[in-house]
Amino acid sequence: MNNIYADAAFINGAVITAADDGSLTEAVAVKGNKIIYTGTTAGLEKAMRTSAEQRIPVIDLNGRTLMPGIIDTHYHPILFGLIGDGPDASIINTFRTNCKSLADILGLVKEAALIKKPGEWVSMMGYEPTLLPEQRHPSITELDAAAPDNPVHCMHGGGHICVYNSRALAYIGVMKPADAAKYPDDEVEVKDGKLTGIVRGHTHFKLWGHVDYPEEAQKNAALKAQRHCLENGVTSVHDAGEFGGTSYHLMQKLCGSGEFKIRTYMMLHDIFGKARSMEENACWIKLGLMSGLGDTRFRIGPCKFMIDGGSGAPSCGTREPFSHDPSLPREFGWHREEVAEYIKIINDAECQATAHAIGDEAIEYMVGGYEKAFLTNPRPDLRHRIEHCTITDQNLIERMAAMNICPSVNVSSLSKLGKKFVDFYGDERNKYICAIRSMLDSGIRCSLHSDAPSYPAGLAILDAAVNRYDRTNGFQCDRTQAVSVLEAIRCMTYNGAYASFEENIKGSIEQGKLADLIVLSDNVLNIPPEDIHKLKVDITMIDGKIEYEREP
Ligand SMILES: [Zn+2]
Repeated sequence: MNNIYADAAFINGAVITAADDGSLTEAVAVKGNKIIYTGTTAGLEKAMRTSAEQRIPVIDLNGRTLMPGIIDTHYHPILFGLIGDGPDASIINTFRTNCKSLADILGLVKEAALIKKPGEWVSMMGYEPTLLPEQRHPSITELDAAAPDNPVHCMHGGGHICVYNSRALAYIGVMKPADAAKYPDDEVEVKDGKLTGIVRGHTHFKLWGHVDYPEEAQKNAALKAQRHCLENGVTSVHDAGEFGGTSYHLMQKLCGSGEFKIRTYMMLHDIFGKARSMEENACWIKLGLMSGLGDTRFRIGPCKFMIDGGSGAPSCGTREPFSHDPSLPREFGWHREEVAEYIKIINDAECQATAHAIGDEAIEYMVGGYEKAFLTNPRPDLRHRIEHCTITDQNLIERMAAMNICPSVNVSSLSKLGKKFVDFYGDERNKYICAIRSMLDSGIRCSLHSDAPSYPAGLAILDAAVNRYDRTNGFQCDRTQAVSVLEAIRCMTYNGAYASFEENIKGSIEQGKLADLIVLSDNVLNIPPEDIHKLKVDITMIDGKIEYEREP
């Protein structure tokens, strides 16, 4: 190629293109917001010498990895950003980084109650009972004592189980144990004849809906998440759902104005429960609109719903009981037939469908539902999805492959809960937890995600996919489903673009594609794989502009 007029160039790198041919190269040039050259450094320098008048920034990578920006296919920017460490945060951080014990959590409830006016909500998220020294959830009496005049929402890190105090339970008419019977089995927990404060599933999401997160707080939250994305090399997110109309509107506005630079594929889903989510999807389908509407900055994604509980705690919809405690309820917010009917509606509307499904039984509902819908209207072109898709088996995987189902796999949960998964699900099921190896071998184009704020984002996903090591508990998980660095990167980039019908414009380093690029602190193909977790993101470029550079 001759006469390159570029705006920026990267040379002497270990460039992972993530293209179909798996090619590795050395140099990339960018003009405007597009990639205009990939190839050798010598080739680029030769072409650029013919236009010596150019004075453009040339970044010498010195052997570092340059790769496509990470596409995190399940991330909640607003929810992520609402979480803060202090008692005045919209959602108080009770993850282990901020709360080491139940006493820490209750201390923050007390402090928050002192700051807030009586009746104002105290909202919290993050703790994992099995990672606390007390090995349990907080109790309703503890929350009542810490905040007698404020409703308290103290949510588990996975988001599906929450402990509420008495003031909070009153919002859904639960004043005494007998009131629990108004709700589906196990959703409002009663133990030894007493309310425990634990609320699960859609009743929890509905009750959470009484907490108000004002638009201004949501805006600041999205911008905070943007910093998190840039630092972690995430250039696109699939927003897996926030707080309804206010959030859709806000995200479209922020993306349109360029204030929020992370490309966003917005799933139609409302965190505040089944009824609200179904209502929003029905509006969309009634208008006759289809998934993919929008531009490279903001696009409408799939109609999403939520079938089962979480993998932590655990409360997901598995076929067999949990290994460590068979008495724990497995939470299903939807019936098998209901799932099939709903998928048919979405499929016939020519929209992409997806649902949160973690346990193998919940995933079976999805796979069976797609099969039923495809009997009369086979639509592999709609690239239907399954969110998390944590516990599968070979049979489910082959059926997914036959329909071109594109699971978004929550592999970074292993880096926090991998050791616990052995207790919860036993050795056999662990061979098919986040089964990326088997999915790729069956021809499935799976993408990977963090589900931030629940699990770590960015290169932590690469580490989890390659090493399958629990970094929180120092534990090597089963390696049956491990994949290579190049395979994992392809899942985190190209397959992510495929999941939003955008593989022709992004997701790999090829001429003509959008210049969403990241530079790592070393050559990921040269270092021992177990050191991937030490890698940093040095540069994040979106749309041809460097939006983040790590301080040396
Ligand atoms: Zn999620």
